[in-house]
Amino acid sequence: MTPRLFDSKTLLLTMIISIASGKGGTGKTTVATNLAFAIGKAHILDCDVEEPNSHIFIKPEITSKSPVYIPVPEIDKSKCDFCGKCAEVCAYKAIAVLKTDVLVFKELCHGCGACEYFCQKKAIKEVNRTIGYIETGEKGDLLFTGGKLNIGEAMAAPLIKEVKNRVKLQMTNIIDAPPGTSCSMIEAVTASDFCVLVTEPTPFGLNDMILSVEVLRKLHIPFGVIINRSDLGDDKTVTYCEKENIPIIMKIPFDKNIAMAYSQGKSIIEALPEYKQKFIALYEDLKERIE
Ligand code: SF4
Ligand code: SF4
Repeated sequence: MTPRLFDSKTLLLTMIISIASGKGGTGKTTVATNLAFAIGKAHILDCDVEEPNSHIFIKPEITSKSPVYIPVPEIDKSKCDFCGKCAEVCAYKAIAVLKTDVLVFKELCHGCGACEYFCQKKAIKEVNRTIGYIETGEKGDLLFTGGKLNIGEAMAAPLIKEVKNRVKLQMTNIIDAPPGTSCSMIEAVTASDFCVLVTEPTPFGLNDMILSVEVLRKLHIPFGVIINRSDLGDDKTVTYCEKENIPIIMKIPFDKNIAMAYSQGKSIIEALPEYKQKFIALYEDLKERIE
C-alpha cells in the first residue's frame, strides 16, 4: 500500500493528486495549473524545485517566504581523536577522516545525523545549511506553495519533503512533480492518491513514460495518462497503454492558441474557455478513480 500522510478520519476529505512526466516539456505544469483553475478551490504545490514555474500561471500573491535548511556536521577538532567512525557510517561519502583532520563535504551531506549519533567523543554538532526556500501565497480560492532550490544545490529531496509537509487537510492538493524518475520525482509523488502522467506521442515521450510507469507500479500508486499534443507523433503510446491496461484519461490535441497562451504565462482555460469543462470532467474522473 502507498504510505499515507494522514489518518483515516481526515483522509476522506483530503486528496493528493500528483502530476508527473517522464521527460520535461510535455505539459505537466499546464495540466497541474489548469486542473487547479478548473477546480477553483484547491492547493497547488510546486515540487519541481529545480525549475518551478507553476507560479507563472497561477500568479499568486506571495504572503510568506521561508528558508529551508538541512543539518550538516561541524567538527570540533579539539575533541576529535580521528577514529574514523563518522566517515565509516556516512552512506553518502560526505566525510573523510585524515590523520589530523576531518573534511566535511557539505554539498554531499543528506543531514541524516548518523555521524553525530555515532561520534563517541561528542566532537560533532549540527549546523544548518540553507538549500532553498518555500513561498506560500494565494490567488482567489487557490492556495499556492512552491519550493525553489538554491542554484547549484543538489539536495532537492529534503526541500520537496518540506513543500509536501504543507499539504492541506480537507482540500484537493495538486502536486506539480519534477520530470523524470529520479529520487526527486519519487519524493514528490509518494503518498499521492493518484498520479497523472503527462506524455506526448513520440518515441522519446513513450520511452520516458514507460520508465515512470515502472516507478509508479513499484510505489503502488494508481495512475493514468494524459497525452498532450495527441494528434502529433504516432499511435504507439495509445497501443502501449491499451496493452498495459493503463487508462488514458485525457487527450489534448495540438493547438497553436495553447502554445501562445503558454508562452504568455496564461492558462489554457483563459485562452480557450471551453477547456474549463474538460478539466472539470477530468477532476470528476480522478475523484471517482480515487474514491
Ligand atoms: S567519529 Fe567523532 S571522534 Fe571520530 S573522527 Fe569522527 S568526529 Fe572525530
Ligand atoms: S549527517 Fe549523514 S550524510 Fe551528513 S555527513 Fe553525517 S552521516 Fe553523512
